[in-house]
Amino acid sequence: MIRFCLHMKDTQLWKVALDQLELRVSKGNFLTWFRNTNIKERTNDVAIIETQNPFAYEWLSKKYKPLILEVIQGIDNSISDIKFSIASKNTDRRISKKNIRIVAQKNTAKNENTPSSSDHIAKYPTKQPSPSSIPLNKKYTFDTFVVGTSNEIAHAACRAVAEHPGETYNPLFIYGGVGLGKTHLLQAVGNAVIAANPGFTVMYVASEKFANEFVESLREGTIQQFKKRYRDVDMFIIDDVQFFAGKDKTQEELFYTFNTLHNQNKQIILSSDRPPSAIPALQERLSSRLSAGMIADVKRPDYETRLAILEEKRDLRNIDIDSDALSYIAKNIQSNVRELEGALNKVAAYFDLHHEKITLEYAKRVLKDLIEKPQRKTVNAEEIISAVSSYYNISHEELCGKSRKKEIVRPRQVAMYILRRESNMSFPSIGEHFSGRDHTTAMHACEKIEKLIDNDEELSQEISFLRERIYA
Ligand code: ADP
Ligand code: MG
Repeated sequence: MIRFCLHMKDTQLWKVALDQLELRVSKGNFLTWFRNTNIKERTNDVAIIETQNPFAYEWLSKKYKPLILEVIQGIDNSISDIKFSIASKNTDRRISKKNIRIVAQKNTAKNENTPSSSDHIAKYPTKQPSPSSIPLNKKYTFDTFVVGTSNEIAHAACRAVAEHPGETYNPLFIYGGVGLGKTHLLQAVGNAVIAANPGFTVMYVASEKFANEFVESLREGTIQQFKKRYRDVDMFIIDDVQFFAGKDKTQEELFYTFNTLHNQNKQIILSSDRPPSAIPALQERLSSRLSAGMIADVKRPDYETRLAILEEKRDLRNIDIDSDALSYIAKNIQSNVRELEGALNKVAAYFDLHHEKITLEYAKRVLKDLIEKPQRKTVNAEEIISAVSSYYNISHEELCGKSRKKEIVRPRQVAMYILRRESNMSFPSIGEHFSGRDHTTAMHACEKIEKLIDNDEELSQEISFLRERIYA
């Protein structure tokens, strides 16, 4: 039986806790709420967690307390409760719900452009530099990228482009699901090119950042600077372009940026979660530009590649782990490389503390929650409708009735959307639940919400809260 050390220092305890919390919440939420937190003091069995501002205080204490307590007690079971405080210089700011905004992306789309481990976060103590000026992440190189059948074409294309930028495949378009190494490959090209040609300017930018800066430059009349920043480069790398779906003005700007660079034989590399032709509402002329060069995909890695990736990460981090434990992880975590890495980090936290070899038995125990995911309970329409009506404080009758008041219409659309997504109900039967409305009304509601979620963080957060409630 493994015993945890009870006299761990607070800073170390919190670091281990953060490593685990990072795996349990979305990256956006992690960066927004957990960055710059620490354990301020421990009195008897109560730990006080210090936050930097009233918003983080409010969110952590309202939404994350049970999770944080669970994680902390898993590390040190002498702690029976936690409390939160706000760092003193910030306590004068008023807590106002209106001001609580989620700065990061939607929960589902994690922002790859920010450093991923809590170690990195600590290096950006206050204001983060704008991602377009964040240097490439040095850890994303070809050396640390494991090649297997799932990614060999994408890898070869990236290598070719790194050796002969602007000459072989231009543009290069890499696509595939989340956590499969797209950002790693894109940045590896940038890192390799800079290493070989120190004067080369490589612009790496996340699509969301590009879009935000574009809109901002229009507002502030700095469009010339914007154009210069993105067109005066030797290589242009833009990550996650599926983000441009339906954003016509920004697509236009990308189109012109693309043409300017392409005409000068400057290398352009793009990534997306799907091929250009499958990005909805992508203007035809842009789509055909993006498809004109080389398109390569990254797939989910097979068992051998997963094992090789784990071995690579083990060596990089110098972790002492039983080979049985490593193959256990490779066998059981199949979804993507990010989760594979997450699982390894989770067991490695133990190694960091105790410097004892990680055994199969320990890996099984620590990864139990990840691997034996409980079957999601099925929910019925009534549960969804009543969750939505209580969340928005509207009666069941009103929500399902005929009113067209704005404050009722939106929650009704949300209810229809969740019904469709969570119970996979047909549009006609959704309509029936709402006073026999036509199926096109239900369809329209779902499309509308789908579109809004992309830009409206508050709405997207409301819907994730609702989902949590429904499945709680
Ligand atoms: P994506 O951009 O496709 O969502 P990332 O490039 O962010 O995925 O990869 C997620 C994590 O997995 C990163 O830490 C990355 O280094 C790692 N990773 C993905 N593929 C590989 C690979 N083939 N070899 C080594 N590490 C990988
Ligand atoms: Mg990415």
